Amino acid sequence: MSKTLQPDPRVETARRRFLAGLGALPLAAALSQTSTPAQAASVKSSARIVIAGAGAAGLAAASQLAARLQGASITVIDARKEHYYQPGFTLVAAGIKPQAYTVSNTGDYLPQGVEWVTERVAEIDPEGNKVVTESGKAMAYDFLILATGLELNYAGIEGMDTARIGQNGMGSIYHSPQAATATWQAMSAFADKGGIGVFGRPAGEMKCAGAPLKYTFITDDHLRRRGNRGKAEIVYMAQSKSLFGVPIVAEKVRMLFQDRGVKVNHEHVLQAIDLDKRIATYKTLTGTAEQKYDFINVVPPMRAPEVVRNSPLPWTEGPFAADGWVEVDRDTLRHKRYPNVFGVGDIAGVPKGKTAASVKWQVPVAVSHLIGDIAGKASSEVYNGYTSCPLITRLGQAMLIEFDYKDNLIMSFPGVIAPLEELWISWVMKTMALKPTYISMLRGRA
Ligand SMILES: Cc1cc2nc3c(=O)[nH]c(=O)nc-3n(C[C@H](O)[C@H](O)[C@H](O)COP(=O)(O)OP(=O)(O)OC[C@H]3O[C@@H](n4cnc5c(N)ncnc54)[C@H](O)[C@@H]3O)c2cc1C
Repeated sequence: MSKTLQPDPRVETARRRFLAGLGALPLAAALSQTSTPAQAASVKSSARIVIAGAGAAGLAAASQLAARLQGASITVIDARKEHYYQPGFTLVAAGIKPQAYTVSNTGDYLPQGVEWVTERVAEIDPEGNKVVTESGKAMAYDFLILATGLELNYAGIEGMDTARIGQNGMGSIYHSPQAATATWQAMSAFADKGGIGVFGRPAGEMKCAGAPLKYTFITDDHLRRRGNRGKAEIVYMAQSKSLFGVPIVAEKVRMLFQDRGVKVNHEHVLQAIDLDKRIATYKTLTGTAEQKYDFINVVPPMRAPEVVRNSPLPWTEGPFAADGWVEVDRDTLRHKRYPNVFGVGDIAGVPKGKTAASVKWQVPVAVSHLIGDIAGKASSEVYNGYTSCPLITRLGQAMLIEFDYKDNLIMSFPGVIAPLEELWISWVMKTMALKPTYISMLRGRA
């Protein structure tokens, strides 16, 4: 039976009082670190700007451009009418937020004057400065902002069937809001009984690399709360020798996993799954290894969407080439070969990023360079690789992990939030403060 976790009303009141006393500290800190579009002078232009993708990055870019340009034609292309607040998927799959928490309407965030073409981009022609939609509509541009996000390549796992998420112990929180709910039901049933719980992440780049770790900790905590941790084995399959891309964070997670009794198998990448027999097969350094499970959270390999992979825009060599990530300059997010094209959000082929928090820092940089081109005044704005992830380590606690290209830990709230500490305030950030900040970002106000 799946249960929705109800917060103790007394604790909830205390939390709200505390937050009220603290004010909107995280929001204020974040907002104070960059000039908002409203503060920036308006630039007159008749430029045609096309934004491919209306997710976190596309909407943030549209809002910032609309606020800063007068007379420009700004067109957003995306067939999806629902907007997904994806950081909330983990909370839905943890049983602490309803599915509706993650779903809203794209139209609610589109600024006035921005045209929305509700189709998918089917072809990108950077030589001809145009994109073509699925219905064959060609749209010429002076500037293109590529914000298509990434593709979840479930087909890359033999035997995987997304229609069966939530059935027979198989969950996958990345797929959709519905899948997050179904995963919660499957995980909750597992937490009632115990057995073998299997977690892990794909090889290659992925969005929010902390999410698979978080879900391991969350499942561990649910088992403990129900008195069933002793009846369960938890196994985490790491794709490499490390548990996280930033060494100091990897070491902290290793220690926490040891403390919680999570067994780790390194250099194991999910290759196939038998959904009837509940057996997962992993590619290892020496061949393959089978793992039985009673519950598994499948995190698929990720790559650029087909339309981008088939275009001339991806890297042609180096670590980002195989999966089609877009060849942008890591400082400016400007395409290295097509200077009127920018890549922001998950699609950008840069060493860090792939979180909504990264989008918040990438979009103003790309927008400022684009406007600099229009105004004939080069921008000096630089994206430093800022990436962050509130890593939930148990229900009610999280570590706020923030870092840059150089693996330096960044502290947005020195004296309030220490980076590698399991804190209740970081949990509050993840569960209460992040979504309003995210929505402000979509509206160009953060
Ligand atoms: C389970 C999970 C947990 C996460 N947790 C966190 C977290 O705690 N903190 C955090 O900061 N981030 C987190 N993230 C990551 C964050 O959600 C993404 O990094 C962010 O949404 C990236 O923004 P984006 O605009 O690049 O992509 P998206 O927001 O995914 O938007 C891409 C848009 O492009 C559209 N599109 C795709 N193909 C085409 C096409 N051919 N033509 C037109 N449009 C197209 C899609 O319909 C979509 O609307 C999490 C993600 C997941 C899945």
